[in-house]
Amino acid sequence: METVTSAREMKARCRAWRAQGLSVGLVPTMGYLHRGHGSLVERSLAENSRTAVSVFVNPSQFGPGEDLEAYPRDPARDSAFLKALGANVLFMPKAAEMYPPGFSTLVEAPALAARLCGASRPGHFRGVCTVVLKLLNIAAPDRAYFGLKDAQQFFILRRMARDLDLDVAMVPCPTVREDDGLAMSSRNSYLTPDERRAAPLLRRALLAAEGYLQGGGRDLEKARALVLETLASDPRFEAEYVEAVSTCDLQPAAEACGETLIAAAARLGRARLIDNVIFDPAGGARRPAGR
Ligand code: AMP
Repeated sequence: METVTSAREMKARCRAWRAQGLSVGLVPTMGYLHRGHGSLVERSLAENSRTAVSVFVNPSQFGPGEDLEAYPRDPARDSAFLKALGANVLFMPKAAEMYPPGFSTLVEAPALAARLCGASRPGHFRGVCTVVLKLLNIAAPDRAYFGLKDAQQFFILRRMARDLDLDVAMVPCPTVREDDGLAMSSRNSYLTPDERRAAPLLRRALLAAEGYLQGGGRDLEKARALVLETLASDPRFEAEYVEAVSTCDLQPAAEACGETLIAAAARLGRARLIDNVIFDPAGGARRPAGR
């Protein structure tokens, strides 16, 4: 596996593969890799001839006062992790490579970013859309892989790809969890041992809502209340939002009649945890379509 820091070199490498008729998969990440990222890389390796992974802590998606400086980083470990998985190229640009002096174009999907994480992190999804569009233009992949742990992010990026006629399949991948149900996240490293033991409560809260829907309940206010009640059982959790929205427009729904995302964010100590369940009344376990 080679590591590339220049966008020009990365472009040349990925385009050479395409010219040879090889398919390319891209997995964009911010590094400090774990098995959740690994599952995206494995899926890409299974579906493409070549797999490119980017590790870039993207400054434009962090707001003032957020954890840009503190965000965990371990490039040597990330590189060894990706090499062991069999990734073909690691793109690890510096911020000045992605945002050179004079950079002034931003991409956003304001309607889809208005609620959920977008409401508490203004400008976050603008930064995400901008950097992911750049990465897609650099690597020109056939497929790009995203985790449903960050469900709003996937739905926004899928919309961006459709709206801007990008020639890439956007592939949603299931959330990978620790044995106790906590969604894996680089930011879990902020948890103290006590907080780490408490953290799976967020998953249990969302499962309470999912159980209600799977049992035939359709009232999404009730589903939200179940999540909030469960979170309230531990005063260390500070709920930031619990929302139930339709996956097509990310707007609140009163009843679960189509594919519905129930997503929550909560503060626990220094960490901000997010998780979600996606419920489809037609199919129960159907997963969101790509493209
Ligand atoms: P990040 O490095 O946190 O920006 O994540 C990079 C990609 O990995 C995003 O598409 C995330 O949704 C995905 N990802 C992060 N954690 C997980 C997880 N636990 N399971 C599946 N995908 C994940």
